[in-house]
Amino acid sequence: MAVIVQKYGGSSVADAQKIMNVARRVAETTAGGHRLVVVVSAMGKTTDSLVALAHQITPTPDPRETDMLLATGEQVTIALLAMALHSLGFKARSFTGAQVGLVTDAAHTKARIRRIGGERVRAALEAGEIVIVAGFQGVSPDNEITTLGRGGSDLTGVALAVALPADVCEIYTDVDGVYTADPNVVPDARKLPRISYDEMLEMASLGAKVLQSRSVEFAKKYGVPVHVRSTFKADPGTLVTREDSGMEEAVVTSVTHDRNQAKVSILRVPDRPGVAAQVFGAVADQNIVVDMIVQNISRDGFTDMSFTLPRGDRARSVAALEDVARRVGAEGVQFNDRVAKISIVGVGMRSHSGVAARMFAVLSKEGVNIQMISTSEIAVSCVVDDKYAELAVRALHEAFELGRER
Ligand code: ADP
Ligand code: ASP
Ligand code: MG
Repeated sequence: MAVIVQKYGGSSVADAQKIMNVARRVAETTAGGHRLVVVVSAMGKTTDSLVALAHQITPTPDPRETDMLLATGEQVTIALLAMALHSLGFKARSFTGAQVGLVTDAAHTKARIRRIGGERVRAALEAGEIVIVAGFQGVSPDNEITTLGRGGSDLTGVALAVALPADVCEIYTDVDGVYTADPNVVPDARKLPRISYDEMLEMASLGAKVLQSRSVEFAKKYGVPVHVRSTFKADPGTLVTREDSGMEEAVVTSVTHDRNQAKVSILRVPDRPGVAAQVFGAVADQNIVVDMIVQNISRDGFTDMSFTLPRGDRARSVAALEDVARRVGAEGVQFNDRVAKISIVGVGMRSHSGVAARMFAVLSKEGVNIQMISTSEIAVSCVVDDKYAELAVRALHEAFELGRER
């Protein structure tokens, strides 16, 4: 008898009818004799609405109180799904993150999992109950409610699958698998039947929100197969697993975009040892992860530094940097919220040259100016003006021949 973890995202549980639909799918899975743990997200766009609500009160909400607020979203869904299963005649019980012993560090709004007890989950499964767990939330060693970063219910699902352990972690969402690009942006994007952890990790960290990047990291570390499928259609979906010979060997397998970025620059910084450490130390102290960093050539002893970061962290990072700018004698701080990061990803890049040059040529042909560039072993990313994001993705998808009619 297999133990299966199924995770249902916000759009899959957006209203009462959809929750009933999920309850029926869950019931069908148990009919196969499997034991089931179901992780759910907040209904629809609840988390976005809660974030917006907090920002109506203050531009810089306190991280602890933010977690207190956001964790309520998932708690609504677990209770409703348990009721839905009861109404179908099934034994089911809902649990918060704290109740299943999902212990994290104290980094509010982006906490990292330290351990999962899981005793109550095992006991409930043993008693023949369907277990329903609130995604995205945990508890710190000091008994504070924490959340795992946006999209964090995926991580709850994968982490529970590791802890129990489960045979597979199924991620049910509003698309029927992982595609060569966001199918909502590129109509002829192609579904990938299988994808390696490494490619999926790169795609996820570069903005393909179908899976949260930390969930992929976790799955890779512990070798849990992750199966991305549609909540609404019976479709085999995409299996995220170890790289093997059955996978595509294309140089580029996907185009990814992230429109949730901001660019921050600190201008005319004195160019002397220790300044970069002070600048980025101040940002790191706010628990903000910066991404691309560019430092210009120094002229007359001063230089400009720019970097990108998640847009939600921009206000706090600018506040911290204005302080540093005064201390080190820089001219000031500028930011731009209208940037997007466009990336091409593929393990084939390890053994091919000229891929980045081709990407730049495609963007240039479309008249898209590149503001920043970064590369990794299996990806190339460019920061561009946000208004060109979709155009750039479609042009690259076509130029690298990723569409259906190959
Ligand atoms: P959920 O609420 O189920 O967690 P998300 O909105 O977090 O769903 O993730 C699903 C969305 O990811 C899709 O609707 C799609 O727009 C987006 N997406 C981005 N890149 C891809 C990709 N390469 N393949 C599939 N979906 C993608
Ligand atoms: N509800 C949370 C979010 O919107 C977690 C998730 O959906 O995975 O980010
Ligand atoms: Mg998600």
